Amino acid sequence: MIIDDQHYDVIVIGSGAAGGTLAGHLASAGKAVLLLERGGAMPLADQNVADVDLFRKDRYHPGEQWFGTDGDPFSPQTIYALGGNTKIWGAVLQRMREREFGPLALQEGPVPSWEIGYADLAPYYERAEELYRVHGQAGIDPTEPPRRGDYPFKPRPIEPFMQELRAALERCGNHPFDLPLSWSESTSDPTGDAELFGVEPARAAARVRIRERARVRRLHVNPTGREVRGVEAEIEGTSWLFSANAVVLAAGAINSAEILLRSATEHHSRGLANGSDQVGRNLMKHQLTSVIQLAAEPNSGRYGRSLGITDYYWGDSNVSVPLGAILSGGGVLQDALFAESPPVLSLVTKLLPSFGLEQLASRSVAWWASSAVRPDPHNRLTLRGNHLQIHYLPNNREAHDRLVYRWIDTLKQMEADPLCHVVKPAPTHPRGEAPLTVMGSVCGTCRMGSNPATSVVDLQGRCHELANLWIADASVFPSCPSVPIGLTVIANALRIGDQMLATL
Ligand SMILES: Cc1cc2nc3c(=O)[nH]c(=O)nc-3n(C[C@H](O)[C@H](O)[C@H](O)COP(=O)(O)OP(=O)(O)OC[C@H]3O[C@@H](n4cnc5c(N)ncnc54)[C@H](O)[C@@H]3O)c2cc1C
Repeated sequence: MIIDDQHYDVIVIGSGAAGGTLAGHLASAGKAVLLLERGGAMPLADQNVADVDLFRKDRYHPGEQWFGTDGDPFSPQTIYALGGNTKIWGAVLQRMREREFGPLALQEGPVPSWEIGYADLAPYYERAEELYRVHGQAGIDPTEPPRRGDYPFKPRPIEPFMQELRAALERCGNHPFDLPLSWSESTSDPTGDAELFGVEPARAAARVRIRERARVRRLHVNPTGREVRGVEAEIEGTSWLFSANAVVLAAGAINSAEILLRSATEHHSRGLANGSDQVGRNLMKHQLTSVIQLAAEPNSGRYGRSLGITDYYWGDSNVSVPLGAILSGGGVLQDALFAESPPVLSLVTKLLPSFGLEQLASRSVAWWASSAVRPDPHNRLTLRGNHLQIHYLPNNREAHDRLVYRWIDTLKQMEADPLCHVVKPAPTHPRGEAPLTVMGSVCGTCRMGSNPATSVVDLQGRCHELANLWIADASVFPSCPSVPIGLTVIANALRIGDQMLATL
């Protein structure tokens, strides 16, 4: 093993939404930071796939095999690269609604309180939207939480046929709004991401070192087990040991928990920071269903997400339980999530026989229905030798199904609208749930809370049991909202960064 002779203020593990953002924040405060990232820079060609090539099954799968609920191996869709999963995200950056900080009742049962409120995160949401150059328009989304002003940038222009769908939705009584999007204005890589807005500013700072292809294997603690003394990483087949005053896990909700579990010692037989036995538990991922409409006129199949609909977010005319959000899917050939949903594709090809994928995309309008899920301690990751075992059964299904059916009713209304010419009635609306393989937006495996018996980190993101270990990524989420979680990950990382700076 090589022992690095530098000692840093902070080691940040992982450079995605949380780690990249936090590294940039700590670097701007002049701290000596070592950023350890398992992957390298993603080639530009892979960042902007808007092609049938997106449907190649090995694209965006790092080649790992995890074991699923049924015990069979599967290949997860997740990104190990500078910027993490933000390299292929849809870049829709929405704030959680005030009520989602809980406690909140979903149809199937309660979700716990975050013990911090919207007001605690609001200033960080504002900073996150500025940092990630979010383009949007306030005041239209009927469920939008209070904000001090409009978005930093005006919404991006949308495809003309989506404009016509927006008007049709309004005639149906909905309130479609421009999805807030992180946008860089770079012609080669237009969507914003954590590499651009976190890692690159950090790299420019004098006291920051970035080690790519450095996979952290485990953390080593002092004899009392109260402090992390060493971070062990594998770099090009060699083990390295790094040290710092403080260590931040930001390897994503799967890998941060895995590192803690793999760091078990005689004194921490269940893994580090795991006296509560909560590490790896409460794994959550949105319930996502794609629904396809038939376009009356061809479109390019290559455009980003644009419209959001939250009119059923808290219920519909029949029920007053949270149902969730609708997001326009963007072009089928540009949607990495859609590429994971082959059952939808096979249904669409039956409806449009003899169509290739290219033609199919140009004749489709894709929508995503997204619903919250509850933390369930049985939904968890555990170690199985060198592999990971994921046990996951989705919950809150009835509310999600209701959202999907409610949305299909709305699509039918739009298709029957004589003023709407861009979609046509179809005998069915093919739909498919995002499968287990979609693992790039999971959360909850190291939950935050004030009670050390039921949580892993405190409300400042610091592990209850280790004075210098912090967790900044999506693992700390006590619940999973219906909106995408990326902006909350970024805002919370900035908040944790401020807490750390106050103590370093
Ligand atoms: C196709 C797709 C579309 C999405 N669209 C949206 C969207 O529109 N809006 C939104 O808000 N969210 C979206 N998401 C989700 C969003 O990208 C994630 O929620 C967010 O990136 C999670 O942030 P994180 O910091 O927890 O993890 P990540 O961003 O995944 O970062 C984790 C980092 O840790 C690194 N790492 C892992 N293990 C190790 C290790 N052992 N040692 C060192 N480094 C390690 C990884 O390589 C990675 O860089 C999408 C995700 C996907 C996959």
